[in-house]
Amino acid sequence: MNKESYLEEKIEQLKEACHTKGMRVTPQRIAIFKEVAKSCEHPDVETIYEAVKDKMPNVSMDTVYRTLASLEDLDMIFRVDNQLPKARFDADKTPHHHFICTQCNEVYDIFLESDEEINLPQNAKKFGRIKDVNVQIRGICNKCIEKK
Ligand SMILES: [Zn+2]
Ligand SMILES: [Zn+2]
Repeated sequence: MNKESYLEEKIEQLKEACHTKGMRVTPQRIAIFKEVAKSCEHPDVETIYEAVKDKMPNVSMDTVYRTLASLEDLDMIFRVDNQLPKARFDADKTPHHHFICTQCNEVYDIFLESDEEINLPQNAKKFGRIKDVNVQIRGICNKCIEKK
């Protein structure tokens, strides 16, 4: 799927989710969602704000916060990891994992090969039924290693 049609599909999904939950499909909501969905970089609030501000000068940082929270409620985006210095957002709901560089805070997506499976700890099932698994790997990314 190319990027354009991927984005269009994501926006259709957003509109549907808004309709289902009785929320308005505002241009702001679409613009902010688009910034998260089109990026592979798991942007933080400021990055999203900077990108949207150019097109919509009326948007405040507060609007971005509130809109992101509403997009989380709609289940259209999620936060990558609460141990990062700033909240980072991801709109890709296909199951994947993250490699987080502790030096530059870059978040890389890890997709499993089709024949690959994550070995869960034996005791994981003890606590209930598992819905999904999200592995966070921390390390130093190749870009940072090369810089040294
Ligand atoms: Zn790095
Ligand atoms: Zn991701």
